[in-house]
Amino acid sequence: MGIFAHPDDAELMCAGTLSLFSKAGWEVHIVTMAPGDKGTAELTRAEISRIRKKEAANSAMLIGATYHCLEFEDLYITYDRESLNRTTAVIRSAKPSVVFTASPSDYMPDHEITATIVQAACFASGVKNLEVDMTPYEPVPYLYYSDPMEGKDIFGKPVLPSVYVDITSEIGIKEQMLACHASQRDWLMMHHKMDEYILAMKRFSAQRGSETGTAFAEGFRQHLGHGFPQNNVLRDIFNNLVHE
Ligand SMILES: [Zn+2]
Repeated sequence: MGIFAHPDDAELMCAGTLSLFSKAGWEVHIVTMAPGDKGTAELTRAEISRIRKKEAANSAMLIGATYHCLEFEDLYITYDRESLNRTTAVIRSAKPSVVFTASPSDYMPDHEITATIVQAACFASGVKNLEVDMTPYEPVPYLYYSDPMEGKDIFGKPVLPSVYVDITSEIGIKEQMLACHASQRDWLMMHHKMDEYILAMKRFSAQRGSETGTAFAEGFRQHLGHGFPQNNVLRDIFNNLVHE
């Protein structure tokens, strides 16, 4: 399960790895906290939300994944009872063994707060007295943080992955998934006069690839705090595709 702030975040940061999971026979879920309701210069919130949720669902469908939106709002993602409860509920419903989320250090607070909410929700999933009327789910899933945008924190310092997944075989499907987000791609195309949306994703995947001697890779850091599983399950599942 990938739980990210906005539609297209999962595609940019871990779609290749999610595609590998899907090919290996795993059930895959992509969750966004918000529907991308601020991602427009022209449309109303309702209009752009409808479009972007459809784009996200189409993208998920390409790898046979299920898309969920938790219906919070762009730029207002907050750590509170409601966000923790809804995120815990989606974890309890899908029972993921492995969860990917945004970087705890990234260019915008929506991403950073999502990382905190997801960390708490993974832990809370098995906690009986939470205000979520669904059967608690244990054990605590494996949790991995994706790279921040451009692989850097807000001070420009590089954020280095501890785990790399070779996604060379999946770069085509990753590009197709990202291309489903036509509203965002067209917007950037207008600004940059080139297909910066796809090009930037490929550049960054190639950069992570070059750090491990492969063509394209995705980087992650595993949550190794108390109570979370400690072994690198990506290594167990994907063997040679994983570099540490
Ligand atoms: Zn985002």
